[in-house]
Amino acid sequence: MHAVEKKVRAFVRVKPTAHFAQDVIKFGPDNKSIDIYIKKDAKKGVVNNKQTDWSFRLDGVLHNTSQELTYETVAKKLVSEALTGYNGTIMCYGQTGAGKTYTMTGATAEYRHRGIIPRAVQQVFKEISRSVDSFVTVRISYLEIYNETLCDLLSTTTSSGAGDVQMAVVDCPQGVYVKGLSIHSVCDVEDALNLLFEGETNRVIAEHTLNKNSSRSHCIFTIYIESRFRVLSDVRCINSKINLIDLAGSERLSKTGSEGRVLKEASYINKSLSFLEQIIIALADPKREHIPFRQSKLTHVLKDSLGGKCNTVLVANICGEALHVEETLSSLRFATRMKWITTEPVINVTYDSEGTVKALEKEIRLLKQELAMHDSLVNRSLVTYDPLTDVQVADIRSQIHKYLQGATDEIDIVNFRQVQEVFRQFKLIVRQQEDEVETRLRSKYVLIDKNDFATIAAAQKVGIVDVDRHLLKRHDVGTRPTPVSPKSDEKKKNSRKSSDRSKKEGTKSLFSGKDLAAQLSSKGQVTIPTKNLDVKEKARNEDTANIDAQPSKPVSEENSQRPSSPPSKAVAFEQFKEECGSEINRIFKENKSILLARKKRSSTVGRRINIIKQEIEDIKKALEAQRQERLQQGEYVDEEGHLIIDEKEFLLIMKLKDLKEEYRLSYAELQDLKAEIQYCQHLVDRCRNKLVSEFEIWYSESFLIPTYVQNALKLGGNIRPGMIPINRVMCLEEDEQDRFERMQEAMLPAGPDSVSFYKAKMKTDQKHTYSRTMSSLKQMHKKPGHITAAGKDKAQSFLHVT
Ligand code: ADP
Ligand code: MG
Repeated sequence: MHAVEKKVRAFVRVKPTAHFAQDVIKFGPDNKSIDIYIKKDAKKGVVNNKQTDWSFRLDGVLHNTSQELTYETVAKKLVSEALTGYNGTIMCYGQTGAGKTYTMTGATAEYRHRGIIPRAVQQVFKEISRSVDSFVTVRISYLEIYNETLCDLLSTTTSSGAGDVQMAVVDCPQGVYVKGLSIHSVCDVEDALNLLFEGETNRVIAEHTLNKNSSRSHCIFTIYIESRFRVLSDVRCINSKINLIDLAGSERLSKTGSEGRVLKEASYINKSLSFLEQIIIALADPKREHIPFRQSKLTHVLKDSLGGKCNTVLVANICGEALHVEETLSSLRFATRMKWITTEPVINVTYDSEGTVKALEKEIRLLKQELAMHDSLVNRSLVTYDPLTDVQVADIRSQIHKYLQGATDEIDIVNFRQVQEVFRQFKLIVRQQEDEVETRLRSKYVLIDKNDFATIAAAQKVGIVDVDRHLLKRHDVGTRPTPVSPKSDEKKKNSRKSSDRSKKEGTKSLFSGKDLAAQLSSKGQVTIPTKNLDVKEKARNEDTANIDAQPSKPVSEENSQRPSSPPSKAVAFEQFKEECGSEINRIFKENKSILLARKKRSSTVGRRINIIKQEIEDIKKALEAQRQERLQQGEYVDEEGHLIIDEKEFLLIMKLKDLKEEYRLSYAELQDLKAEIQYCQHLVDRCRNKLVSEFEIWYSESFLIPTYVQNALKLGGNIRPGMIPINRVMCLEEDEQDRFERMQEAMLPAGPDSVSFYKAKMKTDQKHTYSRTMSSLKQMHKKPGHITAAGKDKAQSFLHVT
């Protein structure tokens, strides 16, 4: 919550007296300032340059002010704000007998002389009774600090109530509190006032020469307010406290004339007050970082009640007699210092999480009832709003599979949870398929380390790669190759057999997740039959043969490493414009021709304007010549005094008028044309961009994504263009090799211990599959028509041989 900076408010209250020193104390007209005049002390001689008059400006001077008005002026706002969560502190400061206790507690004998404490208690309860939607508890404590000892004035354990329980001031993140101080719940004004009076009687009063009843102790009466109320589903707790402090007398020691026990008390009083004063000075200094609150019990207890986040009010009680002018001065100085302190009161609000949960549960219950009622009204039955069960989730999953396979056209929407589950299942399937694509690429292509020359040489030997290290042919069985080993005839036979077998088996949809999952889990490694892919791809390669046959123009950099691969972009672009891009190309052309026509028209009009301009100039010159001639010959004027001009001049003037009109019209047309051209240009640019970007997508989908991935796109319809990030398909980096191995490890069924076992097994399998591959490739190599440029190129990107 944003805090608003405030100042501590300070008031002065003058005790009524019959001997009010009118010439010493003077009040300002607005009742906010007080001036003190002291006559020069004759005894101290003439050379006395001590200041003799002072002016203090405060928030109000309470002179002959009733208890009620004093309360209104000093406390009412602060108490109100405490009920909305702001802490508040009111302190009475002044010499003994000046009226601090009268101001704070009041004269107990008469109701209308009651002071701030009873009035505050009344206000609190009155405002609570007015509020309807909150639950408020009020508690009270009464603390006395006497000779640096903390006394609980409301202690119930002893009759005297003082000093028996070991109490201590404790700092905690929420603020300071007094450990051991009893805090009493009160349910009404009477309860609270009983406690106040009980505390009063428990107060330790020292005998004193100035006033028998004056107290040497600091008394802090605290009202704790806690209100809880619901804001929507939150249970908000507002905590605040009001500290009402009756400070000990501020008179200086020298004046008291006390001795013995009383003297000891007096020095303590002054000490803690002088610490209080130091704190006030420190608080008023924005550059001060450390405030020594802990140096006395009083200042420590008041740590979070002075300035800071608290509304603070000071009442300086003064006597009106000339005799007390020194004390009056020091009290006024203290009050003005208090005014320098800035505070930033903040609301103390917390949220009761347990209460909030309860409130939310209740709300959910209500809403479910509401939904059930709504459902029965619209005849919807059997709709539940509980979390989905495993069975329901499985049902949704199978529905989605059916949907993807085209077995169902739509998925019935039942409720919101089901919609969310549907999306979740879609996401799972997309992830799974991305992994499958990657796995299949891995299984399909041979990865040879580009520095592994022995393997490359071997590969060249058997014709997988050509001399330029371009892959010539793919083989149909998975996993990485091991260095080529000499092949026996038997192995060759095996290889043929196995490829035949897979030919027969490979009839199912390639990307059927079920099959794949089964394979993965049963074998624990990635070997997927891919035969049917090869068949389909062959068909596609034949389809695209015409593209491959196109002469390759110099290609862009990305293609430069793939000679005889996809058609050059220029060629492809022409093809694109005829096929998929025909519509956008048509619009592009149309816009372009409109633009061209407008431009032409615009230049025609521009030329016309120039001609008109020239003509206007000429006519103007001719007219001028006519005028000159007329002047020389003498002018003719008719009866009414109109100038008579000859026909030639008249015709010139008419012509000029027409030309000017034409000029105006042409100019307007030119402006219109300019705007139109600008707009058309914009359209053409946009069309061009669209054409190019659509082309790029088409190009990569047609030529750069491996053919069998495209087949997959076509086949089951499970994967659609745009579902596979092309960069993922195309950029299998070298270090993905490691990832691949890790992935395989992770898939092992029997934990990490089985790694070496499975690795060994895999190597053996690879050896077999590789040699099988080699032999079948050799067979195929004898029929060179199989190899397509596109296929080579694609393989190239997986075979990191450059
Ligand atoms: P303190 O607490 O500062 O020592 P007290 O409040 O005990 O002073 O006041 C001393 C005496 O003066 C008390 O008898 C009190 O009733 C009286 N007194 C103080 N201020 C006022 C006032 N504003 N109006 C009437 N009586 C007052
Ligand atoms: Mg008192």
